[in-house]
Amino acid sequence: MEGARPVRAARGTQLTAKTWPQEAALRMLQNNLDPEVAEHPDELVVYGGTGRAARDWPSFDALVRTLTTLADDETMLVQSGRPVGVMRTHEWAPRVLIANSNLVGDWATWEEFRRLEALGLTMYGQMTAGSWIYIGTQGILQGTYETFAAVAAKRFGGSLAGTVTLTAGLGGMGGAQPLAVTMNGGVAIVVECDPSRITRRIEHGYLDVQAATVDDALRLADDARASRRPLSIGVLGNAARIVPDLLRRGAAVDVVTDQTSAHDPLAYLPAGVAFEDWAAERSKDPAGFTQRARESMAAHVEAMVGFLDAGAEVFDYGNSIRGEAQLAGFDRAFAFPGFVPAYIRPLFCEGKGPFRWAALSGDPADIAATDRAILELFPDNEPLARWIRMAGEKVRFQGLPARICWLGYGERDRAGLRFNELVAAGELSAPVVIGRDHLDAGSVASPYRETEAMADGSDAIADWPLLNALVNTASGATWVSIHHGGGVGMGRSIHAGQVTVADGTPLAAEKIARVLSNDPGMGVIRHVDAGYDHAADVAERRGVRVPMREG
Ligand code: NAD
Repeated sequence: MEGARPVRAARGTQLTAKTWPQEAALRMLQNNLDPEVAEHPDELVVYGGTGRAARDWPSFDALVRTLTTLADDETMLVQSGRPVGVMRTHEWAPRVLIANSNLVGDWATWEEFRRLEALGLTMYGQMTAGSWIYIGTQGILQGTYETFAAVAAKRFGGSLAGTVTLTAGLGGMGGAQPLAVTMNGGVAIVVECDPSRITRRIEHGYLDVQAATVDDALRLADDARASRRPLSIGVLGNAARIVPDLLRRGAAVDVVTDQTSAHDPLAYLPAGVAFEDWAAERSKDPAGFTQRARESMAAHVEAMVGFLDAGAEVFDYGNSIRGEAQLAGFDRAFAFPGFVPAYIRPLFCEGKGPFRWAALSGDPADIAATDRAILELFPDNEPLARWIRMAGEKVRFQGLPARICWLGYGERDRAGLRFNELVAAGELSAPVVIGRDHLDAGSVASPYRETEAMADGSDAIADWPLLNALVNTASGATWVSIHHGGGVGMGRSIHAGQVTVADGTPLAAEKIARVLSNDPGMGVIRHVDAGYDHAADVAERRGVRVPMREG
């Protein structure tokens, strides 16, 4: 892409922008494009196939220029990756407001989106790409760890030891799968068609070995399973071929899922297309390519259903592969559930979700100090402590050092305020940013993922993410974003995000106390409204006001 160049966020305490909130947005934008973080930085693509941090390089330059000069009573407006205005606001207002990839309902199709993208009018923001709080594969590692821990609790007595998980995709998100499985004690076989992704995950310590062939992978998996030894195995090939092949052979597989970029048919390699020809084939005939990709996804999903019928635990991991397979005519595509109703919803009822933070100093010691703070704050939460300890040992930072853990209502604000105190006391060498994924308890409407099978049928009601963005804006978040599409694709989700800076000031403390209560509070009220008793209990115990239950 014209203008491409390597980007890396500044470290240390020297400011380029006027004050820390703007500096934080600047560093996190740049950090999203750090070659250690982004999947295709030259294309401004951070993760998820096409999720961008800025629309094009001139827009990136304008974002940097504007953030560098932005005052404490100004707000920069970003429309799909391009800064379009600076407005006079006030010091409690966000410094940046972002709207990415939003299209009016009837127009919210991939065809229309791509037509507008080709005209240079929009970009795909994914969830944390266009909202500048992607922290590399660790971000999803914790959620993936939680999910596989829940699978283990539901089916395998609390551990994946002695089980084999079959999945595909070693991209920005999917690359977390092998480590999440081995952290839970299991064996993973992961199919990936791009050899560089396999190498990268091995280099980063997320994947243990690459098998030379499918036979080799099965041999390695059987050995490790028999000795209840954790092991992750990458296999080069096409999942639409290999997954059905393994089913035919009767491979001993206990858990099946998938994280190829199935939400976007142009980012799923159809069987029969060589990896080297992918780019040329899809640009030659996008419509024909889409059809072939969907047919391959149908074969892939049919095999997943075959494993389900054979007794395996099978789930959709948030990439819309069931929806695409159904479009290709496979009518049992929805025979297995999405991971949220299967494992995550009870956590959402408590406002629990992917809380994350990054050290703007660039110093790993700052994250070690925040890790200790989390362990001190929540001494009774053993799974949290296990995660923080394992993450400290196993997670290699990409870009600015960062950490993630799932915290809920009444926990996030405590953690954020503690971090702010550590900054004020000089125990951290620079401020930290505190944000989260758009995949959270009360910030997303996504009928194939976060809001699949809601108790009251409100899956497609998208007022909630909009209220979430509004309440975070009203509560003092540093930047707030509203996106369409995200991980499940155009027309299928609307979601919002927030990032708040802990710069050690009393003002930051006031903002943190509000944002980090109200943001997870949205998760609690959303699930109370949908009729979840667990959420109603949480609201009552923790004092979350729900007008329809008062009076
Ligand atoms: P990515 O584009 O970085 O990686 C996808 C990988 O799949 C690539 O490495 C690609 O080579 C590989 N692939 C594509 N077709 C294949 C095939 N037929 N066989 C084998 N490998 C194939 O995407 P990502 O960031 O890793 O995200 C993966 C999917 O998960 C996306 O659809 C994304 O939207 C979704 N997602 C899920 C969650 C969640 O919480 N579960 C969160 C974010 C994104």
